[in-house]
Amino acid sequence: MGDSTDQHTTARPACPVCGLAGTAIVYGYPMPETFAAADRGEVVLGGCVIEPAMPTHECPLGHRWADDESYGEDVS
Ligand SMILES: [Zn+2]
Repeated sequence: MGDSTDQHTTARPACPVCGLAGTAIVYGYPMPETFAAADRGEVVLGGCVIEPAMPTHECPLGHRWADDESYGEDVS
C-alpha cells in the first residue's frame, strides 16, 4: 500500500509483432489534454467503451496488443 508506480506515459513497450515503440491507448472520456496528447501522437484514443481484454498499446503500423504482463516487470 502507498506504493504508486508512476510509469504511465513514460513506458513505451515494443510491439510484439514488428518491434516498433508502442503508443499507449487511452480509454474512457478524453480530457482536453488527452486530445492534445493524441494530436502529438503521444497517446491513441481508444474510445469510451471499455471491455475485458482490450489492447493497451498500438504501434505505428497499427498492431494492437495488451501489455499487462510486462507491467512492473523488468527481467534482465
Ligand atoms: Zn507493430
